[in-house]
This record gives sequence, C-alpha cells and structure tokens, in this order.
Amino acid sequence: MDHFLYRDGALYAEDVPVAEIAASVGTPFYLYSTATLTRHFQLFDEALEGMDHLVCYAMKAASNQAILKTLADLGAGMDVVSGGEYARAKAAGVPGERIVFAGVGKTRAEIRMALEGGIRQFNVESEPELRVISEMATSLGTVAPITVRVNPDVDAKTHVKIATGKAENKFGIPIGKAREVYAEAAALPGIKVIGIDVHIGSQLTDLEPYETAYRKVAELTEQLRADGHSISRLDLGGGLGIPYAPSNEAPPLPSEYGALIKRTVGHLGCEIEIEPGRLIAGNAGLLVSRVIYVKQGEGRQFLILDAAMNDLIRPAMYDAYHDIVPVIEPDAGAEQQQFDVVGPVCESGDTFARARMMPPVESGELVAFRSAGAYGAVMASEYNTRPLVPEVLAKGDQFAVIRRRPDFDEIINRDTIPPWL
Ligand SMILES: *Cc1c(COP(=O)(O)O)cnc(C)c1O
Repeated sequence: MDHFLYRDGALYAEDVPVAEIAASVGTPFYLYSTATLTRHFQLFDEALEGMDHLVCYAMKAASNQAILKTLADLGAGMDVVSGGEYARAKAAGVPGERIVFAGVGKTRAEIRMALEGGIRQFNVESEPELRVISEMATSLGTVAPITVRVNPDVDAKTHVKIATGKAENKFGIPIGKAREVYAEAAALPGIKVIGIDVHIGSQLTDLEPYETAYRKVAELTEQLRADGHSISRLDLGGGLGIPYAPSNEAPPLPSEYGALIKRTVGHLGCEIEIEPGRLIAGNAGLLVSRVIYVKQGEGRQFLILDAAMNDLIRPAMYDAYHDIVPVIEPDAGAEQQQFDVVGPVCESGDTFARARMMPPVESGELVAFRSAGAYGAVMASEYNTRPLVPEVLAKGDQFAVIRRRPDFDEIINRDTIPPWL
C-alpha cells in the first residue's frame, strides 16, 4: 500500500496534488511519501515483535538525508555499503551503534572511518578482509565486532543481476567453509565474533529461498556454538520484493516473513537484524515526468518524456517494469492505447516500456512512474549532462524539496582545465 492515490480526478502525494509540486519544482523529480516510508518500516518492526531485533534500513535503496532521518527517528538502524553511505548515515544523526557495514570490498580507509566513528558490526565477506579489519582495529587499540556473511548457495529465484546467494556470486564465504573462517576470526586479536550474516538477493517474491537459507543459518549457529563461538546476533539480510506491475501476484507480506524468521531461527535466542531496502522505499516514491512529444512511428506510437534512463535506470539495467500513470486521472471508460515510453537520451536503451497499454496522454501532460522510490534517484547519473533531478518529500499537506536541481554551471564547474590548456 502507498499514499499516492487519485482524489477528485488528480494524483495526490498524501494530501498534496502532484501537479502542484510539479508546478513549483519543475519536472522531472522524485517524490516520496513520509507516511508510506513510515508504514513500511513499521510493518517490519511489528513483524519481529517479541524478538530482540533491529531493522537496519539498506540505505543504498534511497539515501537522501531526509529519508534517512525519517527512518532513524522511528528507530531504524542503517545498513551501509560504502564510506560515503557511512558518512551519510552519521550526518543524518544515526549513531555508530546502529550502523552495520556490509559489502565485498571495504577499503582500509572505510574500515578506519567506521572504527573511529563507531560501528555496530562489520559483515565480513572474505578472509583477507577479516585480517585487514583485525589489523586496523588492533592499530587503533580497539576490537571490531563482526559477523561473517555466509553464502548458503540458495537460488533466490530473482533477476540474475540481483541474486547474491548462489555459490557463483561474489558475495560471502561458502557456508561449508564457515567453521574454518570463524576459527580464524576467533584467533585474531582485533576481532570479536558476534554473529552470522546472510543476504541472498533482492526482489524476492517467494519465501521458500529464505526458508532454506535461514534453516542453514540455524544449523550453522548450533555448529559454531558447539565449536565454542558466542553467536548472539543473526543478520538475515534484506531482499523482500514489492509488487511492480498491477497484474503481478502480491509478494509475501512482512508479517509472513517475520513469522518465517521466528519459525526458522527464533529458538536460538539471538538478536535479529534485517536489512530491508526496496520494500521500505520502493513504493514510497514516484518519478514524475512531463510528456514532451507524442510521436507517431512506423506502426507504433512513442511517448517521449523529459525523464530518461539516467534518471531511472532500472528498466534499461534490469528490464524492470514500472507502472506509468497519468497524473490527471483517466476517465473510467477511457480507451487504452499502445505506447513505447522513452526518454530523450541518445541510446535505444533509453526505453522505459514497450507496447505499454495506457490511457491516452498528450504532450505537456504529467505522468508518474510508480514504485520508483528504491534504486531510482540513487542510481541516477548526469549522462547527456542532464542534471540530477530534485527529490521532494511529502508529509500530510506539506512538501519540501529535499535535494534541489543543480544548474548547468554547478555541473560544468566541477570540471577543471589543466594548466597547459
Ligand atoms: C542490497 C542489500 C540489501 C537490501 O536489499 P533490498 O532488496 O533492497 O531489500 C540488504 N543487505 C545487503 C547486504 C544488500 O546488499
């Protein structure tokens, strides 16, 4: 459920007409709903009620300071995957004890930053990384809390580019090798083992791969405890999918996911961490765009928008489906037409949808991409020297620009001319 609904013939973000924001901010722009972000966070938090737990928002999904602060104020921790994200989390007021550092290629500079600024735990993805963390912690006179990310070799049955839990993926340590790695970790002076981490992929629409993975983690917990390790925390990753197409079967609910967690690992008495990103931010954001032209092609009709692949890359990168709706509510009986929805960038990949059935729209009209809140603004680039689009947050009858559109000079002035030119 989200808070982008038609009311009196027009699309609203909570209690604000989307067209009013477009008139004030210009298009294209990302538009988020506070109530939707809040509700989605709370669904996870409630799903784990009765267990000691922390929901660590995977901020790579959408990392604007205002989004982070909205979630942090509700009690969210943060899952970060780079020094930049760590700095963003800190800047939004998240204490180090609520920040988890994930990622396969943490650099020394990033590890140092987290050790100095405070960290809940590192999720370690290789032995060389484990040794570097130990060395850095020792040199700083501290001890680094860690989990080892295990790769359970489970097929998450999702898009190949976002599956992470198969043996062929670069992520984690093969689960069969885990005991060996934990033995090494326990012997390192700068390391304190606190738990196990697993994350098998993104946009999962079925609970079965989770069930398989979490059962393996439960078994490993018991083995590691028998080996003498203290395993008090399980980080179970993120990845729960969202409905993108209206015709799709609804993915499992956070409550069903929470029940699965209780069933598979609840008996172990561990503190539970989860790292949802997409499900919190995805349906909490729209990309709003204006139709520049409607162009008749050979046997097809192109809807040319002012948003492009550089603003929302998911269709080009993952063949992702986004529902695209007119901001003026179409008449109930409006006849659908077929459009290829494209942006102005000079690549054929700059296509959001092919042969999409939509109510007729005309040049100058506004359209909104639904479910664009996650992996939207954060993956944008300035390709074709198109400025990064603004981000706007709605709350009740208010809205605020939470990242403004840069002007061309700001973009150009980041370049410098060498002295010989
Ligand atoms: C991307 C990622 C997540 C979040 O995945 P979603 O599909 O957005 O929920 C969580 N944990 C790790 C380690 C990730 O890489």
